[in-house]
Amino acid sequence: MTQPAYKRVLLKLSGEALMGDDAYGINRATIESMVADVAEVAKLGVELAIVIGGGNIFRGVAPGAQGMDRATADYMGMLATVMNSLALADAMRQVGLTARVMSAIGIEQVVEPYVRPKALQYLEEGKIVVFAAGTGNPFFTTDTAAALRGSEIGAEIVLKATKVDGVYSADPKKDPGATRYSTITFDEAISKHLQVMDATAFALCRDQKLPIKVFSIVKPGALKRVVLGDDEGTLVHL
Ligand code: UDP
Repeated sequence: MTQPAYKRVLLKLSGEALMGDDAYGINRATIESMVADVAEVAKLGVELAIVIGGGNIFRGVAPGAQGMDRATADYMGMLATVMNSLALADAMRQVGLTARVMSAIGIEQVVEPYVRPKALQYLEEGKIVVFAAGTGNPFFTTDTAAALRGSEIGAEIVLKATKVDGVYSADPKKDPGATRYSTITFDEAISKHLQVMDATAFALCRDQKLPIKVFSIVKPGALKRVVLGDDEGTLVHL
């Protein structure tokens, strides 16, 4: 198959995936390899929007935030996603891709605010849009931001890039007998208590009939294979 299976996708990159094998922060080789994957997909003419997490820099519920007011800690988490978004957009610029970062919280001197029609215009122009600062609200996650922005821009699928290559029947790190689902319905995932995304994100995707593909960003070329519709990772569908 050489034709992409989708015209417009929302790619969710976890902040932790950016760390590579480091303990925190942004690993240069890792971000470059992610950008190379993104460039392959952009070459196919697929419209690409990206939501990036912040867990490599700050997580609202992490030990470092202990004792902190939760909302304050969450705003710090959202600012961490702005840093990652800037790093990602700049890494894309370095390989000749045009990216625009749009923030859900006002920080105009640094990045432009999220305005839906503008985001749609950028996508139609073939620019890659990076949605920063999650949903802009504490008590949410960037998975929910991915579900929300994916719905808003009419993406055909949310591609959830993680370090694990799909949804397993049990934790593959703990249970060697765990098997990977190639496809699974939203209802099956709920009844089997499989963690695909947090509950809010998952419910939003299900309500909006927005399928989710969980795949490993660590595997070279996986993003392109997913966009071409190969049987890679796990497809969560209605
Ligand atoms: N966050 C938030 N609201 C959002 C998105 C993110 O408050 O809409 C905060 C929250 O503290 C979260 C942190 O930002 O822990 C980083 O996001 P996330 O944990 O989703 O990142 P990832 O797991 O993808 O690295």
